[in-house]
Amino acid sequence: MADYIYTLETRLSPDQQKGVTLVLDAAKAAGMNLYLTGGAIRDIITGFPIRDLDFTVQGNALKLQKDLERAGAVVGDADNETRTLLLTLPGGVRAEIAMARSERYDKQGKPPQMAPATIIEDLRRRDFTVNAMALSLNEGSRGLLMDPFNGVADIEAKVIRVLHNYAFLEDPSRMIRATRFTTRFHWPLEERTQARYESGKENGYIEYIQSSSIGYEIEQLAYEDDPQGVLKAYEKEGWLKVLNPRWSTAKVDTAGLGALMKTRQQMNELGYTPEVAPAVLYFLTERLGEKDISDLRRAIPRKDLVEAWKDLDSNAHSLAKRLSGKEAGTPSRTWQLLSSARPEMILFLAITARQQAVAQKIKNFFTKWRQVQQKIPLPEMTELRITPQIPAYPKIANDVFLLLLDGKLRSRTETLKFLKPLAPPPPPPPPPPSAKRGRGAKAAAVAAAAVAPPAAASGKPGKGKGKAAAAPATPVPVKSAPAAKPVVPVKPVAAERHVAPVKPAKPAADAKVSQPASAPVVKKPGKPAKTTKPAAKTKAKANSKPKKKGK
Ligand code: ATP
Ligand code: MG
Repeated sequence: MADYIYTLETRLSPDQQKGVTLVLDAAKAAGMNLYLTGGAIRDIITGFPIRDLDFTVQGNALKLQKDLERAGAVVGDADNETRTLLLTLPGGVRAEIAMARSERYDKQGKPPQMAPATIIEDLRRRDFTVNAMALSLNEGSRGLLMDPFNGVADIEAKVIRVLHNYAFLEDPSRMIRATRFTTRFHWPLEERTQARYESGKENGYIEYIQSSSIGYEIEQLAYEDDPQGVLKAYEKEGWLKVLNPRWSTAKVDTAGLGALMKTRQQMNELGYTPEVAPAVLYFLTERLGEKDISDLRRAIPRKDLVEAWKDLDSNAHSLAKRLSGKEAGTPSRTWQLLSSARPEMILFLAITARQQAVAQKIKNFFTKWRQVQQKIPLPEMTELRITPQIPAYPKIANDVFLLLLDGKLRSRTETLKFLKPLAPPPPPPPPPPSAKRGRGAKAAAVAAAAVAPPAAASGKPGKGKGKAAAAPATPVPVKSAPAAKPVVPVKPVAAERHVAPVKPAKPAADAKVSQPASAPVVKKPGKPAKTTKPAAKTKAKANSKPKKKGK
C-alpha cells in the first residue's frame, strides 16, 4: 500500500506542512477527527502542484476558529450553514476546514438538506471520484486513505467521473467544475459523465445553480495557473455568462495577465512567491463595468481576497509615489525600499506603472542591481576572514553591496580598502607541542584544550589520544571564527567611518518583509519556490446577495 503520509510530507511545501500541523493541533485540542480531503489528495497522487488544503473534521469546524486565529490563521469566511472556515494559514497557505456532512437534494434548485455525518458519508456528497478521497491524519489510523469510489483508479486512467447519475442535476455548478478540471488537467470526462454533462447542458440545469456556487467558482478562477484558458473554456461552454452576464474574454486585459504571469515566474526564480490571485481577478475583469465588478466582489466568499483586489490600485499608487520621491533617491535606497515592500505590490506595479522612472527602478531591482552582487570580492573577504560565520558578516556584506550599488566603491582596491579594517583578527597561534608523552601528554592536552579554543589548537595531531590532539590540523577560518570571537571583537562600525551609512528604508505601513535587503548578498538566486497560495470559495446569483455554501 502506498505510504500517503510520506508522500504528503514530501509533496507539501514547508509552510503547508506547518499548516497541517497547526490544524491538526487545533482539531486534537477540540477532540475532533481530522481528514485531508479534496484536491490535495488528488494532487498528492497525481503530482500536480497542491494549491490549497481542504480539511474535513467530524464535528463543528467553526469551533476551531479561535484556536486557529491564535495560531496565526486569518479567517476569510465562516459559513454557518455548512460550518466551514475559509482560512489563510501562516505563509499564505490557503485552507478550508469543513464539517463532515451528508446532503440530500429534495428539489431541483433548492439547497440540499444537510446534516453532520461521518467522513465516509461526507465523501458521498462530493463532485468527482478523483475528489472523493480522504486521508486520515488521526492517531491510530494516520495515513489511511479512504477511497470509496475508487478515485485512485480514475487518477491513473486520467478521467473525470461523477459519483452518480444525478450529480449535475443536483448541483449544476459541478458542470462548471467539470470544465475547469478538464481544462486544467487535460483529462477528459468519462464517457457516461460526458453524456450526463451534455444532457445537463441541453436541459438548462445551470439555471438552477445556487448563488453561493457562483461566487465560489468565480473565486476559484483566481487561483488557476492558466486563468485565461479556463475563462475561454467557460465562455465556450456557456458558463461565463452564468458567473456574470456581461463577462467575456473581450473584457480581459490579456497583455496585463500575460505580463503578470511572466513577471511572477521571474520573481519565483529570484525566490519571491507573490500571491497573484487578486491581480488575476483585476486583469480578468479589467474591461468590465464598475457595477459588474462590485457584483463579482460581493459574490466571492473569501473577503481577504476581495480586499486585496480592491486595494491593488491604491497600494501600487503609494509605492509608485515613494519610488518617485527622496526615499528612493539612490539605487541603494531604492533597493532597500523595494526589499521591504510586499512582493505582490512590486509585481502589480511592475506591470501597471505609468512613470517610466518607476518601471525602470523595479526592472533594475530584478535584474541589473542583482548583478552587482558579482562584484562583491568573496575570495578576498574569505582571506580577510570575513565569512558568513562571523556575526558581523550580514552587515558588512550588505554595506559593501549598497556602496557598490551607489558606485561609492569604484574598484576592487577601493572595496578592499573598505573591507580591511573590518577583518576579524587572526586566530591565536597553536600552543607549542608538548614534550611529554603518555599519561602526562594526555593531561597536558586536556589542559591545553581547556584554555585554547578547539580550532586554534595544535596544527598537527598530537601523539597522545586526548581531545585536543584531535583538533583540526590547520586553523580553518570558517570553523575557527566562533573560537576567535572572544579574543578580539569584530568592529563593524569601522564601515561607517569611510562612508556615510545607508539608512535602512522604512518598511511600508502594510509591508510584510519578504526578503531582507541583505539577502541577495549572501544568497544565490533561489530556485523558484514551489508556491503555496491563499484561496477560497462559494457563490451568489449575480446582483443578489450570495447565499453561502461551503464545499
Ligand atoms: P482545487 O482546489 O485544486 O481547485 P479541489 O478539488 O480541491 O480543486 P475545491 O474547490 O478546493 O476543489 O473543493 C474542495 C473539495 O470539495 C473538492 O475536491 C470536492 O471534493 C468538494 N467540492 C467542491 N465543490 C463541490 C461541489 N459543487 N459538489 C460536490 N463537492 C464539491
Ligand atoms: Mg482545493
